[in-house]
Amino acid sequence: MRGMNDLLPGQSSVWQYFESQVATLMQRYGYDEIRTPVLEQTALFCRSIGEVTDIVEKEMYTFEDRNGDSLTLRPEGTASTVRAAMEHGLLHNQTQRLWYTGPMFRHERPQKGRYRQFHQVGVETYGLEGPDIDAEVILLSARLWKQLGLYEHVTLELNSLGSNEARAAYRDKLVAYFEAHHEVLDEDSRRRLTSNPLRILDSKNPAMADMLADAPRLMDHIDDESRQHFEALTARLDAAGIQYVINPRLVRGLDYYCRTVFEWTTSALGSQGTVCAGGRYDGLVEQLGGKPTPAVGFAMGIERLILLLETLDIVPDEARAPLDVYVLGMDASTDGSAMHLAEQLRDAAPELRVQLHCGGGNFKNRMKKADRSDARLALILGENEQASGQVAIKFLRDERSQQIIAQQDLAAALKSLLAEQTP
Ligand code: ATP
Ligand code: MG
Repeated sequence: MRGMNDLLPGQSSVWQYFESQVATLMQRYGYDEIRTPVLEQTALFCRSIGEVTDIVEKEMYTFEDRNGDSLTLRPEGTASTVRAAMEHGLLHNQTQRLWYTGPMFRHERPQKGRYRQFHQVGVETYGLEGPDIDAEVILLSARLWKQLGLYEHVTLELNSLGSNEARAAYRDKLVAYFEAHHEVLDEDSRRRLTSNPLRILDSKNPAMADMLADAPRLMDHIDDESRQHFEALTARLDAAGIQYVINPRLVRGLDYYCRTVFEWTTSALGSQGTVCAGGRYDGLVEQLGGKPTPAVGFAMGIERLILLLETLDIVPDEARAPLDVYVLGMDASTDGSAMHLAEQLRDAAPELRVQLHCGGGNFKNRMKKADRSDARLALILGENEQASGQVAIKFLRDERSQQIIAQQDLAAALKSLLAEQTP
């Protein structure tokens, strides 16, 4: 199906590498994973994301189930997380630091970095109103980029949307400005003028660039408290040595943000350059029927990050999960012993990737399979070795003569051979 990808062998190991880096990092910061269903009541997304956003207006996969209930495949993870946290009482007089990962669905025009089923890792925190938690989630993401070798290739963009009241006042000023420049507005922007004028600031239309550059800046209209919050956040980032650029036109596409918004962007992926985006959404829990609860979060697009790793060619060889050894009997008479040997090896050296030859065949055939596997060594068991408790080690990738060693020394021998072979 268009925009929905199969993840094939070879690619999936890179995903596993990425996912394990994420899971470990979240543990190290004391974040707990939450898993919610991919389906929710449609109303949840309309009420949280906002009726006049791209997502709700045109991107949701919505259908009626057999009971006539309107359901939607989640287009993002924040609404579901808030719903689940409220439903299970996770927000009663306590703070939460949560993370999730999984597929999201948006009916968009598929292109590089933009799909209809895509995957996000997200972080959501609740009950913390100070700028320290804004800084923490940004530091957490920065650490991930460093671990993956991406930090030099991404830019942190920051803005403050101010309080809801300050933003409403600014909105009026902005609409007046846009109305004075009505002739420059494209069709999309004219439509948004009444529904969501802040989003016009986000427009990439070059014909509007000059006009937008001179538009009133949200940052100049935010309330004092939001300004202090923002200054405290940037002070934390400065102290941590995290560089950023303030982008006064960064507004984000979803309705629920206030105060801090941020994006990590890259120039290496063309126009799909945002790899992670988030901010503060203090009003959302209340809007969905809970008690007022401050909240900060972000979501990153896994496909774009993997594309970036591949484009920059910085996926470690280890992440491609090559086999270490391919174990084969010389013929049917040693197949049973070969299987036994492979199992013993898995007991003795759990870190090794061991594949056993299955499917019979003559010796030539078996060796061909060993060569075609990406293993570095083949372990060959003939009748002689079987009888003497030995095994032959053949080097599949180097010009090096075969060795015969005792099976009981095998695990230790392989460890040192594989270590010395590492490029
Ligand atoms: P964009 O401006 O690229 O449409 P967005 O503002 O709609 O992004 P968010 O809803 O903030 O994106 O989602 C967070 C991240 O998820 C994005 O920065 C991006 O990395 C990823 N993402 C969003 N939509 C898609 C998609 N259709 N395909 C792949 N990744 C996506
Ligand atoms: Mg979008």
